[in-house]
Amino acid sequence: MADILELQDVSLEDKNVLAQMVNMDHEQVLFCQDRATGLKAIIAVHNTVLGPALGGTRMWNYASEVDALTDVLRLSRGMTYKNSISGLNLGGGKAVIIGNSHTDKNEALFRRFGQFVESLSGKYITAEDVGISPQDMVWVNQETNHVAGLPGKSGDPSPVTAYGVYMGMKACAKVQLGQDSLSGIKVAVQGAGHVGQYLIKHLTDEGAQVFVSDVYEPSLKEVSEKYGATVVGLDEIYDLDVDVYAPCALGATVNDDTLSRLKCSIIAGAANNQLANEAIHGQAVMDKGIIYAPDYMINAGGVINCFAEVDERTAEWAMDKAGQIYNTTLEIINGSRANNIPTYAIANKMAEDRIKQAMKK
Ligand code: NAD
Repeated sequence: MADILELQDVSLEDKNVLAQMVNMDHEQVLFCQDRATGLKAIIAVHNTVLGPALGGTRMWNYASEVDALTDVLRLSRGMTYKNSISGLNLGGGKAVIIGNSHTDKNEALFRRFGQFVESLSGKYITAEDVGISPQDMVWVNQETNHVAGLPGKSGDPSPVTAYGVYMGMKACAKVQLGQDSLSGIKVAVQGAGHVGQYLIKHLTDEGAQVFVSDVYEPSLKEVSEKYGATVVGLDEIYDLDVDVYAPCALGATVNDDTLSRLKCSIIAGAANNQLANEAIHGQAVMDKGIIYAPDYMINAGGVINCFAEVDERTAEWAMDKAGQIYNTTLEIINGSRANNIPTYAIANKMAEDRIKQAMKK
């Protein structure tokens, strides 16, 4: 049983649902349909060995049902790894609602979705993800208590996420640059959004020199005025002579094109799925002598914040837990160097080992 955690990527061509579940080792997938509200959703519970499956709900206009299923299966599996490596007693799950988040939302739809979440009796705890607002979760909460990220509760996760990224970056600097103070270090931050702005504050408070890109001019103006960050072009960010590249906007920015241009010795940022191809670019990054802080480990502050809410922990506890990302990052880098294996692979193994250990108990 243990080995099936080490899985193959699901094939997009494979429309056989149970075969996909077997391939990715999912415990349960719930298809939800309600003609009256137009709800079409899929809830995927990947693994509950460590605890109830926690992961957000995404609302997206998928081109096909196969795309929606593939996305929810991948995302829920990703949550198993994120929750495990973060030392949380949570499993991995995720939900997708198929629809346009700008035009298809209403109270009835989210309440019906809440009833489906409730039907899982706490095996799955939902939260916000792309296309979902706190108000939507308030509607879901009318039907189920298995919801995190409600207004007035744990609040915006971005400060906790940013703090975890900052601590992980310090650990990388300790190994790569011989100092964990970021004073005098040059950091290129891609994306001055919720996480990016808090991260830039930590960096400049500590005396780092920050370069920043964003598609949204007002955010650039804000971070340059408030923190003295230097604004650079959207594409220019990959060519800068910096110590750290911190992707805090898009996925897949570490790819064949950018890898030949990046001059940094550390990649540490909040974005999900930073490596365009985990196996290829994870190895290529290592071959270039760059330390890559695995994304789902370093950006786990958000889920730590959610866990604090459902487990009734304090905000201080969440910050402290996010601060432990420093030690986890060091452990991963040390494991990578000792075994000559890319950091992403060490992180995956650590996450899998914790689950396997729990299965033995
Ligand atoms: P956000 O939407 O607030 O910020 C993203 C920023 O990136 C925006 O300012 C946007 O204008 C900018 N952007 C978009 N395209 C860009 C481009 N081509 N170049 C430069 N900037 C661009 O999102 P966020 O909450 O700050 O999250 C940032 C990233 O971190 C996302 O990938 C998110 O999935 C991930 N993440 C966030 C959290 C969290 O707690 N918010 C937790 C884990 C992971």
